[in-house]
Amino acid sequence: RAKEEGRGGWAEFDDHMQTLAVERLRTEGELRRALERGELTLRYQPLVDLATGRTAGVEALLRWQHPRRGLLSPEAFLHVAEDSDLILEIGSWVATEAARHAQAWRAAGCPKRVSINVSAAELLRTDVVATLGRALAETGARATDLMVEVTESAVLTDIEATVVQLEMLRSLGVGVALDDFGTGFSSLSHLRELPADEIKIDRTFVAELGSNPVCDAIVSAVITLAHAIGLVVVGEGIETERQRTHLALLGCHQGQGYLLGRPAPPDKIPC
Ligand code: C2E
Ligand code: MG
Ligand code: MG
Ligand code: MG
Repeated sequence: RAKEEGRGGWAEFDDHMQTLAVERLRTEGELRRALERGELTLRYQPLVDLATGRTAGVEALLRWQHPRRGLLSPEAFLHVAEDSDLILEIGSWVATEAARHAQAWRAAGCPKRVSINVSAAELLRTDVVATLGRALAETGARATDLMVEVTESAVLTDIEATVVQLEMLRSLGVGVALDDFGTGFSSLSHLRELPADEIKIDRTFVAELGSNPVCDAIVSAVITLAHAIGLVVVGEGIETERQRTHLALLGCHQGQGYLLGRPAPPDKIPC
């Protein structure tokens, strides 16, 4: 009996895995068509200078305008793209689209630095330098108007290869930001090895500012560290006035979050 139940469990697990695989394939096919039909779109969220209140740049955030399911966030579909070669095409589309908007803002007399997220899959499987180079050539945007955000998971897998790619980007003039800083395994050793211009303190730390003394201490230490080594430091996920004031008092250069501006279409970003 027990044996049968055990086997039943496996059979069920097997069914479940098969359903997941079918689901994944379907989403992959749908996503490929979405890319072809122009259903992918970028939203932009401002990075605000906490001392002056001025917009210092914007982060490009990917969305899928799904015909039935509405506007989807990356969490709903990006992992599927990352498991296939689709992420390479999507990454290339994001780079070109962001560069196009950067160029349009510059032409309109309000240049902004546009940050693009690059996932581990892209860093490890493509020549991100070539992808960005093509995007710049196609759009006429300046390298210095672009910034690349990488997370530690991207970096952890192959640090040497990542360092080489990031160094090449920086020699072109493209900025490098370490995204979700503090959530990875060995943030401090990465800070030593990686060529970066900016660190973005993960929003989980910002969320507990003023209510968790350990978070206060971590955030304060990261900001001090950034100042000491000459990096721009950004607080992510600012939702309250208290968090904004707290970060500003600690000397955090820039902030990003719903309080300061939600992700919006490019034409809604003030000049
Ligand atoms: P991220 O790069 O850390 O981006 C910040 C995320 O926090 C965004 O989620 C943004 O909408 C959200 N956010 C901003 N302010 C607040 C706030 O005040 N409170 C809260 N709770 N959230 C806030 P989003 O757009 O859903 O993107 C999620 C993640 O997907 C990004 O995290 C990034 O890692 C990835 N991603 C987004 N666009 C792209 C892309 O074009 N390519 C790749 N490879 N990854 C992307
Ligand atoms: Mg980011
Ligand atoms: Mg982040
Ligand atoms: Mg994130």
